[in-house]
Amino acid sequence: MSVIVQKYGGTSVADLSQIRNVANRIAKTYDQGNDVVVILSAMAGITDSLIDMASDVTKSPDKRELDVLLATGEQTTSALLAITLKSMNYPAQSLLGHQAEVLTDQCHGNARIIDIRAKKIKELLEKRNIVVVAGFQGCDPEGNITTLGRGGSDTSAVAIAAAIKADVCEIYTDVDGIYTADPNICDKARKLSVISYDEMLNMASLGAKVLQIRSVGFAKKFNIPIHVKSSFTEEEGTMVVNENSGMERLVVSGVTCDKNQARITLKKVPDQPGIAAKIFTPIAQAGIVVDMIIQNTRAGGKTDLTFTVPNAEFRTALDMEKKIAKEIGADDVFGDENIAKVSVIGVGMKDHSGVASKMFSALAQDNINIMMISTSEIRISCVIEEKYTELAVRVLHTAFGLDKE
Ligand code: ADP
Ligand code: ASP
Ligand code: MG
Repeated sequence: MSVIVQKYGGTSVADLSQIRNVANRIAKTYDQGNDVVVILSAMAGITDSLIDMASDVTKSPDKRELDVLLATGEQTTSALLAITLKSMNYPAQSLLGHQAEVLTDQCHGNARIIDIRAKKIKELLEKRNIVVVAGFQGCDPEGNITTLGRGGSDTSAVAIAAAIKADVCEIYTDVDGIYTADPNICDKARKLSVISYDEMLNMASLGAKVLQIRSVGFAKKFNIPIHVKSSFTEEEGTMVVNENSGMERLVVSGVTCDKNQARITLKKVPDQPGIAAKIFTPIAQAGIVVDMIIQNTRAGGKTDLTFTVPNAEFRTALDMEKKIAKEIGADDVFGDENIAKVSVIGVGMKDHSGVASKMFSALAQDNINIMMISTSEIRISCVIEEKYTELAVRVLHTAFGLDKE
């Protein structure tokens, strides 16, 4: 007998017949004698339409109230699943985020989980209930509803798995595992049987939305094995585990892309101490995450400085930099939203040379220009023109020998 957490994503609970399919899967796991906690997403597309609805009311909806609205998506599916299970004579009970004691900070729309007491979940499990928890939501210390950022029910699932010391956290989605590249972009992508937490952290942060990055962080911290699999088949999926669990160290195990990026360039910035701080401090204070930064030296004590920010924050960052440019005496500021970041990731890169040059040559062969580069121990990323994104993923996938036979 095991304690199993199962999370079902939006496409797996898209309508009542899907919910019935999910209920049958849960019933099977329960009948095998396991303790089962289920975490649900909203029906596919519902979170988007709730956001649209609020945006139709006003351009910048109040963040507290938006979270109250968004949380209804997961409340609906959780109740419907519990109703379905009960109609099948299974002892099920649904819990909202606050009832499951998912305590978060106060950052509406992107809250972080601080603690999960899970007292209620444990009590219900002891009485052999199937516990259905609404994902993506928690509550702050004052009892306000918060949400955990897009894709956040993955994080709910892994954090609850950690809190109840589950044996495994199964993430059911519309693909049957984690692939060497997004299978919806690269049809030669191969399914991985295992991937390390670190590789998955990189893949998630570089555009592979199959798992929300914070869920992988939790899994690594509390050593929770994640099993990503399809809710439509019985096939084995991909295990996300510790690097030393006897896995093969591929030089490159995945290629990702992220179109959710924009770049900002400040031209002819005075090359003096303190200038970079003036450029980046206001952006950091506004909570905007800057990713890549490059600085080119020009003659005459001037430099050009380029950096990337998420698309959603592009306008705010650009307006801020226009003001800053005037203050520091930079010549001009311009932005570009039509960029994308492609990355190759692999723990084996640590002890191999030539990965970067192979990446650059592969892109060059297809005439894809590289605008910015950044590297870490286990990944290399290049910023390119957005229109070449899919081509670049496929070219790199082939160049690193990842294509399936
Ligand atoms: P869910 O609604 O179940 O949470 P998501 O849409 O958030 O599902 O995540 C699943 C999607 O992630 C897949 O449909 C796929 O397009 C995308 N994806 C991106 N990169 C990968 C990858 N390397 N392996 C598998 N899926 C990936
Ligand atoms: N429903 C939320 C979203 O669409 C959370 C999730 O699906 O994980 O982002
Ligand atoms: Mg998701």
